[in-house]
Amino acid sequence: MDTVFGRIIKGELPCDKVYETDEIIAFKDINPKAPVHILIMPKKAIPNLQSMGEQDLGLMGKLVVAAQEIALDMGVADNYRLLTNNGPKAGQSVFHLHFHLLGGKILGDLD
Ligand code: AMP
Repeated sequence: MDTVFGRIIKGELPCDKVYETDEIIAFKDINPKAPVHILIMPKKAIPNLQSMGEQDLGLMGKLVVAAQEIALDMGVADNYRLLTNNGPKAGQSVFHLHFHLLGGKILGDLD
């Protein structure tokens, strides 16, 4: 399924990129919920966390390392939240797996 993130990964749509490897891309969220709000995702089209399999274990580790490096680069290494919305009832609106890295302010409770 072609999603807005799939089109960004293919270079068909622009983004404000902050990190890229052969397997991962990260860019600023277009509607930021915090001073730092980065979307981190695999280039591989995986719909969401629940769709990941054993074959993606290495990729998951690389996503975590990407989050650590981005947090350092953004100056929020001691104050960030990393989350993913899995499914529409959890707030997922784009069905290409992505993690939100939020920081740069006091983060409130999760609901
Ligand atoms: P989610 O609701 O968890 O699926 O998150 C989707 C996120 O993608 C939202 O925070 C949107 O603001 C963000 N978003 C949607 N389109 C774009 C885009 N073209 N560039 C950057 N962020 C986007």
